Formats: sequence, structure tokens, C-alpha cells
Amino acid sequence: TIEVQFSGETRVFTVSNQKGGVGKTTTAVNLASALADLGAKVLVIDLDPQGNASTALGVKHSADTKSIYDVLINDLPFSEIVQDSPESENLRCAPSTIHLAGAEIELVSQVAREFRLRRALEEFLRDDPVDFVIIDCPPSLGLLTINAFTAASEVLIPIQCEYYALEGLSQLLGSIQMIQKHLNPELHLSTILLTMYDARTRLAQQVAEEVRTHFPQQVLNAVIPRSVRVSEAPSFGQTVISYDGTSAGAVAYREAAVEIAQRKESAAQNKGA
Ligand code: ADP
Ligand code: MG
Repeated sequence: TIEVQFSGETRVFTVSNQKGGVGKTTTAVNLASALADLGAKVLVIDLDPQGNASTALGVKHSADTKSIYDVLINDLPFSEIVQDSPESENLRCAPSTIHLAGAEIELVSQVAREFRLRRALEEFLRDDPVDFVIIDCPPSLGLLTINAFTAASEVLIPIQCEYYALEGLSQLLGSIQMIQKHLNPELHLSTILLTMYDARTRLAQQVAEEVRTHFPQQVLNAVIPRSVRVSEAPSFGQTVISYDGTSAGAVAYREAAVEIAQRKESAAQNKGA
């Protein structure tokens, strides 16, 4: 087993990419489960109205379930919506429900609309600290994603190694800079994870090489392979970590989790850079 120390200081990640289907949710839930297996206390916040992270973590998220919508719009504390995930005793999830689809509009008229997630999360963590908070974002740069950006300090971008991946990334980097300047000086791109990698294709190798050249500090050594086991797991209400822990996808996500846990120092150094 691998020795990983957790300092007691909470690291808040937002998993973002304005493209859909690039592996944001898959990355959020699998890293969360792998970190929990390493002994970290982890909270996943499902901020996507589709609720895919809630599904994969096996928590209830039907229309009548108390959810992150109630935290953002009705001032419900996190402690009333957080559920234990059957994945691990260290892992909990703040579920999303279909109501969250309306929150994007409803937030517009709320006081401190960009900071509602941050405020509620800070209050929760005061009584119930965790090592990692991982926020799964919708594929847009609306108020839900802005709430994630103000609540987090680290941005994790999953990059799909299947087409020209750097295209469109500049828009996301621009948004991060804008948030950094106006709303949250702590926010920075700390981690890039290459995913859906197919070593047989020249394109995947080219994409990986190019991303590593542009972001040598941020790209993890671990690369997530394209694997059927990874995509099957959510239909069993599981992550691949618990569904098939010896599969290549599970092994890769566990490696990525170890790297993230061990990268604490460099993350702290990069702050404000
Ligand atoms: P996003 O949250 O960015 O929309 P998802 O995590 O939902 O993306 O992934 C999109 C689709 O790709 C899902 O069907 C998911 O199961 C599948 N997928 C994600 N990662 C992998 C992988 N490493 N191998 C195979 N399929 C994957
Ligand atoms: Mg998703």
C-alpha cells in the first residue's frame, strides 16, 4: 500500500471543462472514490442538473430528494442534504436533482449569487472538516460553474485524448483568469488529467504530447485509458474503483489520486501564480 498523509487542510477542486462528454463526472467520482480508499475524507458536490455524479456514487437524487438546489436557493445547510455513498465510509455526496436546471436562472436574483456555494460550504466544513471537496460542474460557464469557481481553489481539467483538445481550452483559461481577478484570487489551474486515452492511435499520443508541452507542471503522469469497464460502472450505481478495482481504468484513477494527494506542496506553491 501507498503512504499518503493528509494534513487536515481541505483542498477544494472543481472539475471543469466547457465541453460535455470529456470525462468530468467520471473523473470527479473515480478520483473521489480512490482518494477515499487512500484514507482521505471526501465530499463530492454534484453541481450538474443531470445528476450523473449522484448516480455513480449510489446516492438518492429523485425530484423529492433534498439537494444542492436547496442549498443554493433555499439556504438549506449542507448537513441536511449530504448523503453517505456506499462506495466508501469516507465518501459523501451532496446530490443534484432535476430542480438544479432552474437554479441557473433563479440564482440571478439572489443576494451574493456568485458566492452561495462557498458560504454554505465554509459553514459545513467548520463543523465537519474533510480532506477533499470535489465539485462536478456542468458543461457551461453559467452561475453554477461560477459558484464552483468561487468555492474552489484548484481547477482540475480532464482532457479527452481523442481530438484536438487544446482547442476551446483558452476560453476556459480565460474564465479562470477572470474569476481569479474579480471573484477568487486563490483559484488556479492545478491539475490536468489526460483521459479516454487509446495508446494505439497516433492522435492520442499527439494530444498527450502537446498538452504536456503546454502544461508541464499541471499534467499528471497517470493517464486514464479508454475502457469499457469505466463506462459500465455508473449503470450499477458505482465507480470503477468499486465495480472492478483491478481493471486498467481503476488502476489509473488510483495512480492519479496518489499523485494528487502527494502534490500538495506544489499546489500550495502555485497558488496565486
Ligand atoms: P462529462 O461529465 O464531461 O460530460 P462523462 O464523465 O459523463 O463526461 O463521460 C462521458 C461518457 O464517456 C460517459 O458515457 C462515460 O461513461 C464515458 N467515459 C468517460 N471516461 C471513460 C473512459 N476512460 N473509458 C471509457 N468511457 C469513458
Ligand atoms: Mg458530467
